[in-house]
Amino acid sequence: MKVMKFGGTSVGSPKRIKEVAQLISDNESKIVVLSAMSGTTNSLVEISDYLRKRNPEAANNIINALRTKYLGHVRELYSTEEMAERTRDFLEDEFMYLHSFANRNFVDSDEKVILAQGEIISTNMMTNYLREQGVKVCLISALDFMRTNIEGEPDLNYIREHLQETLSTHPGYDLYITQGFICRNHTGAVDNLQRGGSDYTASLIGAVLRCEEIQIWTDIDGMHNNDPRFVENTTPLRQLNFEEAAELAYFGAKILHPTCVQPARFAGVPVRLLNTMDPKVPGTIINNEMQSGKIKAVAAKDNITVIKIVSSRMLLATGFMRKIFEIFETYNTSVDMVTTSEVGVSLSIDNTSRLAAILDELKKYGTVEVDEGMCIICVVGDLSWHNVGFESKVAEAFAEIPVRMISYGGSNHNISFLVKETDKKAALQSLSNKLFS
Ligand code: ADP
Ligand code: ASP
Ligand code: MG
Repeated sequence: MKVMKFGGTSVGSPKRIKEVAQLISDNESKIVVLSAMSGTTNSLVEISDYLRKRNPEAANNIINALRTKYLGHVRELYSTEEMAERTRDFLEDEFMYLHSFANRNFVDSDEKVILAQGEIISTNMMTNYLREQGVKVCLISALDFMRTNIEGEPDLNYIREHLQETLSTHPGYDLYITQGFICRNHTGAVDNLQRGGSDYTASLIGAVLRCEEIQIWTDIDGMHNNDPRFVENTTPLRQLNFEEAAELAYFGAKILHPTCVQPARFAGVPVRLLNTMDPKVPGTIINNEMQSGKIKAVAAKDNITVIKIVSSRMLLATGFMRKIFEIFETYNTSVDMVTTSEVGVSLSIDNTSRLAAILDELKKYGTVEVDEGMCIICVVGDLSWHNVGFESKVAEAFAEIPVRMISYGGSNHNISFLVKETDKKAALQSLSNKLFS
C-alpha cells in the first residue's frame, strides 16, 4: 500500500481536483491524504480570529464569501445534478455550522473545530467527484484514528490500532481518502498537527502501516537545492538521505512540514516528493542512501531569537551548562543552535512565548543579551569532517555578510549560520553562487 498526499494547491480548483482524481484512480492500493483547498485554512483562521475578537459580522462576511466560492466550485466540478445537489447540501450544512459559532460565545476549542472544516470539505468534494466518475472509493475520517498524546506528540500506537480498525471495518477498497492536518488530542477534542501538517499526517500513516512509499504531491518538482521563493535558478534534487531531508524541513524548506520526515525515517519508509502539475517528472526520493562528498541544499528558518549569557563563573565551573539548559527545559522551549566560549554561551530559539520568564532566570547566572529578527541558514549534505575543505568553502559565501553564530559538527549533515533576517536573501543567493553554480 502507498500513501499519496496532495497539498492545498494540488486540490486548489475544480480543474486540479479532476487532475488529482485521475492520478489516484488506478487499481493500486492506496490511502490518499488531502489538504484543504489553498486559501481555505487561512480564511478559517481569519474567521476564528474575528470570533475571538467578538466581531461576528466580519466572521460571517468571510463565511459568506467562502460559501459563494465553494458553490462556484460545485458548478464547475460535477457533471450530474444529483452529485452537485448532494455536495451543495453538504456544503450548506458546513457553512451553517460555521455560522453557528458566530451566534454564541467563542471558546478556545472552537478554533480547532473551525480550522478542521477545510480538510473535511476538500475530502468530501473529492470523494463525491470520484463517485460521480464511477470510481470505488472509501472516505475515512482522520478524527477516528489520528491522535496526539498528553505531550502533544502523535500517539503512534493509538494511530496504528485505530487506523487498522477503521480500514478493517471498510474492507475491499483500493482507494481510501482521508483528511490531512486534523486530529484529536489526548482528551478526544478536535485538534491539528500545526499549519502545513498534512505532510505529517501522510508520514504518520505511512509509518504506522509500514507502507511501501509515502508520496508528497505538491506544486514543484521535488526538493530544490535552495529556496525558490528567494533564489533564482534553483534546481531539483533527485535523492536525499532521511537526515538531510529532516534537517532541510526543520530549517525552513517549506515543501516539507518540519517534523514530517521523522516517522518515515524511523519506519524506514521512503518518501517521494512529486509535482501534481507535472506528474511525469521524477521528483525527489528520500531514503537511507547517502551520497558521499556532496553538498545538497540550503534552507533558511526565520524568526529566530539569540540569547547570549556571559558569566565569569562559567570559567572552569562544572554544572553551568546544565543549569542554563534546565531553564529552557522548565519553560518548554527548545534550543536550535548552541555555541560556547570560555566565558559564555549563545543559544537560539524560535518560540519566544516564555522568553521574559527565561531571561529572568538566566540573569541569575550572568549578563544576558538578546538579539531578535535573526535567521538560521542551514547547509545540508555530506558535511562530515573527513571532507576536507567543505566548511571553508561554505564559509566563503559569508565573506560580506555579518555572521552572529556558526554551528558545525553536531551532525555529519549540517552546518548552520545565524545571520540577520535582512541578510537572508543575500546569504542564500551567495551560497547558491558558491556551491551550486
Ligand atoms: P503544499 O500546499 O502542497 O503543502 P507548500 O506550499 O507547503 O505546498 O510547499 C511547496 C512550496 O515549498 C513550493 O512551492 C516552494 O515555494 C516552497 N519551497 C521552499 N523551499 C523549497 C525547496 N528547497 N524546494 C522546493 N520547494 C521549496
Ligand atoms: N490546510 C492546512 C494548512 O493550510 C494543512 C496543510 O495544508 O498541510 O496549513
Ligand atoms: Mg505544505
